[in-house]
Amino acid sequence: MRRIAVAKGDGIGPEIMDAVLKIFYEAKVPLEYVTVDIGKWVFDKGFNTGMTPEARQTIETLGILFKGPMETPKGKGVKSINVTARKTWNTYANTRTFQTLHGVDTVFSKAGIPIDITVVRENIEDTYGGIEHMITNDVAISRRIITRPGSMQVIKYAFEMARKKKARRITCAHKANIMKITDGLFLEVFQEVAKDYPDLKADDVIVDDLCMKLVTKPDTFDVIVLTNLQGDIVSDLCAGLIGGLGFAPSANIGDHICIFEAVHGTAPDIAGKNIANPTALLLSGIGMLRHLGLMESATMIENALLYTLEQGVHTGDFGNKSISAVNTTQFAEAITSNFGKQP
Ligand code: ATP
Ligand code: MG
Repeated sequence: MRRIAVAKGDGIGPEIMDAVLKIFYEAKVPLEYVTVDIGKWVFDKGFNTGMTPEARQTIETLGILFKGPMETPKGKGVKSINVTARKTWNTYANTRTFQTLHGVDTVFSKAGIPIDITVVRENIEDTYGGIEHMITNDVAISRRIITRPGSMQVIKYAFEMARKKKARRITCAHKANIMKITDGLFLEVFQEVAKDYPDLKADDVIVDDLCMKLVTKPDTFDVIVLTNLQGDIVSDLCAGLIGGLGFAPSANIGDHICIFEAVHGTAPDIAGKNIANPTALLLSGIGMLRHLGLMESATMIENALLYTLEQGVHTGDFGNKSISAVNTTQFAEAITSNFGKQP
């Protein structure tokens, strides 16, 4: 049986991970889970990367990490555990999928406008290096690093993915009109790579214009590739288009290690209440099953999830407030009781 590493995370992490693993267990997914110590609590024990050396070793041996959200410890000079994990294993492409889900009512689904957008966010470079300092008491500086090889690997990945997905369009979003050198380089690499994919319609758009077009004509976009910070912001916008952060899955892809996690964070405001929506983590898990070639399990669980949502069963984070919401555990139970159903 294939073994994978699992870290439940902080905040709502343990609740939603337990719900997802219960669904996997009931679906008899042929996976063995090795729990690894990563998270704020590991940081608090004195491990400044937020993970133990054993956790790191296990993940490097197994190649797959399924993780819940992790809290960034407070304080200057402290790096985000999520960012450290992505950097340590060079998971350079953060792929986030935003699809219309039947039963999850949004302004677009009600208007019959289908959404199927994949955001590919560069995951290592940009302002996320944390190279920041004060040059006087009143002036702070942050360095933004964009490299040709760093841009190349994520952009090539985006084109390959777009081809596999049979995408209608691949768009590079940027601010090269202002950041002519850094975003200019990213755009230049995009245009260079595009020449090797004449079968794909490749174009570019200024990121602010993209935001406006996403909220007015989201169905005109398919694959969008962006630098790290802009990709982060645009992802949350796209999550809003399909019903919120509770429905947005992601994968961090590297050449040796892949990390599957929800787009959202630890949601401290609702942690410990058993009301969080596990859908985003479940969809991330379904993506992981497909990545591992476990197509049957993936399809069965996905169908049960879609069927459950279509029946109007949902957690309280979205939708028609007049329909009573179920809690995290009940939502997971509804899904397992719907195995075998077709949406
Ligand atoms: P972090 O710093 O870890 O990102 P945050 O305060 O930014 O934490 P997020 O997790 O990004 O919080 O969530 C933003 C908002 O979306 C919060 O109000 C949160 O309750 C809500 N939210 C996020 N994920 C979920 C979920 N799975 N189910 C329900 N609500 C969620
Ligand atoms: Mg957040």
